[in-house]
Amino acid sequence: GFKMGIVGLPNVGKSTLFNALTKTAAAQAANFPFCTIEPNVGDVAVPDARLDTLAEIGKSKQIIPTRMTFVDIAGLVKGASKGEGLGNQFLANIRETDAIAHVLRCFEDGDVTHVEDRVDPVEDAEIIETELMIADMESIEKRIAGLSRKIRGGDKEAVAQERLLKAALVALEDGKPARTIEVADDDRKAWNMLQLLTSKPILYVCNVDEASAATGNAMSEAVGKMAAAQGNAHVVISAQIEEEIAQLAPEEAAEFLAEMDLEEPGLDRLIRAGYELLALETYFTVGPKEARAWTIPHGTSAPKAAGVIHGDFEKGFIRAETIAYDDFVALGGESAAKEAGKMRAEGKAYTVKDGDVLHFLFNT
Ligand code: GDP
Repeated sequence: GFKMGIVGLPNVGKSTLFNALTKTAAAQAANFPFCTIEPNVGDVAVPDARLDTLAEIGKSKQIIPTRMTFVDIAGLVKGASKGEGLGNQFLANIRETDAIAHVLRCFEDGDVTHVEDRVDPVEDAEIIETELMIADMESIEKRIAGLSRKIRGGDKEAVAQERLLKAALVALEDGKPARTIEVADDDRKAWNMLQLLTSKPILYVCNVDEASAATGNAMSEAVGKMAAAQGNAHVVISAQIEEEIAQLAPEEAAEFLAEMDLEEPGLDRLIRAGYELLALETYFTVGPKEARAWTIPHGTSAPKAAGVIHGDFEKGFIRAETIAYDDFVALGGESAAKEAGKMRAEGKAYTVKDGDVLHFLFNT
């Protein structure tokens, strides 16, 4: 599955956010109970209203959302890269994520200490980014040194790695995160394997006070400007409100949201933003037993999409019977869509589209 790391300075609301994410009714959805792999790792259901609609039309007994993993990564402070807590395990935790949710404190509260004794989310973002950049520079230098023997031995992969590492180092020495360098399509795979901390896509999460949950505040606006200038995404939420909502029954939660002038839980927006950040899409399988959502990266072929369900589906792939979500809903289900000629048989070359309702045929 896909993994988002939650990072940020101490006391900005990371744990509050993580708890909210993993405590929601959705996270604990019946079929796939929220499972704590480690205390700081949680699988969260990806909210998607389309799945409920499909289940209703298909009279499916069960609804199984697709999942995304969140990891609460504590321990980043100023000077962390100089050994103050930025241990190997901690770095490895960040390395293993696909993207970073960077929580920024955008609330004033005299009772909650700020490690830097002032509230300034833009400055906070820079502190964290600087620590990650220093860690990247150190690891790049070590890795380049480690590659020299392989390069002398004529290892082509090592040559490509060195070229990418050196390009990243130039950017980092210029004060820019590794994600700012342009990577050719051919290099994309090698680049991702380098797992540089500052090459990961980033989503800024502005944790605002309760009163600003719907509107944001001056601090979250400043973060928004910074994010836009960097080409990064940002969302505004109140972690405290989210934690409260997460503990309510669905009807109560709806009332609470209405009172707060919120259309939906901020967590839904956060998870969706993470999905977008990673260019992920959803396809569906619908039957009387279950309606289920599956996650694929944008541009996934039909056999690869089948492989998300089971490796055998990919190996033995014959074709995918495909109905677009809109057709499925407008016509009122599979047989009606089929009669209307809206069910297509797609082969190996087909690129699955977000919202496709699929049925795979395969050899065993
Ligand atoms: P972490 O160190 O980043 O994981 O931060 P925590 O989630 O433990 O939060 C630190 C403190 O800030 C806790 O006492 C939270 O209750 C409080 N806190 C978190 N979010 C908010 C918020 O939106 N408003 C206020 N006033 N306090 C918050």
